[in-house]
Amino acid sequence: MDVSTSSGVVLNSVQLAWLQELGIERTHLHRLGATVASAPTEAVTAGSTATPTTTAPASTAGTAVPAEVAQPAAMPIPQTEGGLQAAIQALRKAAGIRQNTRTDTESETESVAAPAKIPDTFAALEEAVQQCQACGLHQMRSQAVFGKGQQQARWLVLADAPGDVDDRHGVAFDGQAGELLQAMLTSVGLNEAEHCFITHLVKCRPLNNRQPVAEEISACSPYTLKQIELVQPAYILVLGQLAANQLLNNTSDIEELREKVHHWQSPQGKAIPLIVTYHPAALLLRPQHKANAWRDLALVKALNQQG
Ligand code: SF4
Repeated sequence: MDVSTSSGVVLNSVQLAWLQELGIERTHLHRLGATVASAPTEAVTAGSTATPTTTAPASTAGTAVPAEVAQPAAMPIPQTEGGLQAAIQALRKAAGIRQNTRTDTESETESVAAPAKIPDTFAALEEAVQQCQACGLHQMRSQAVFGKGQQQARWLVLADAPGDVDDRHGVAFDGQAGELLQAMLTSVGLNEAEHCFITHLVKCRPLNNRQPVAEEISACSPYTLKQIELVQPAYILVLGQLAANQLLNNTSDIEELREKVHHWQSPQGKAIPLIVTYHPAALLLRPQHKANAWRDLALVKALNQQG
């Protein structure tokens, strides 16, 4: 499928797939004035880490498309899905990105095995996550994203899944959503590096910024539970509906979950106060929700001041 842009640039299927693989296709198409409806798109929900359509993430805005991608004239355009996947793998290899061997769809259907053993120290746990192949997401990742911040923090911040920038850099919330999260935390007196440990339900990025499925979340939950046990947070801040539903074991809408203090019952029997707000990526997409988010953050501030 080719997409013609108003500026006269024609993107072929390989270029589209490559841009989508990098998670920046909307940004580039938007800049080129393309009709986005004619390109593959991804639904964005409040709890997802999908790249906002309106503003380029800081760390991807300047991303140059590799020369061999920008000039694909000599490359035959695959006409089949298999051929397209093979072309993507070749482009990934040329760009130095870890080679995938399966499609995104296959990863969802791959059988899930529980991690063999969950280490008891932070360093060993991170190493185990980096080596983990317990669910199909390991086939798609550039690297696992363990989390960042204090190993024993007052606040544990939890979202659904790493984004494409996180995946490439191996750092949680490393893109524009991360900048907004930092601003949100700072506004209520929390220093990301000093007071927080920030992580995700699943440590590996699902392709195309889709939400992780139940099997993937389940496979990764031993790591997340161990992180919470080791961090020993006084409070938990949850970003987005999916992560909140998972921790609170409900199916409530984000609007029902916000502006309340919930409690998460740890396996060790501790009830940890928990606040839910929007995922920063959702706030970038829908800035009209920022006023609501500040109300949630006022709760965070009030809890934090309780000592
Ligand atoms: Fe392992 Fe979690 Fe990555 Fe799945 S998402 S491969 S369970 S670390």
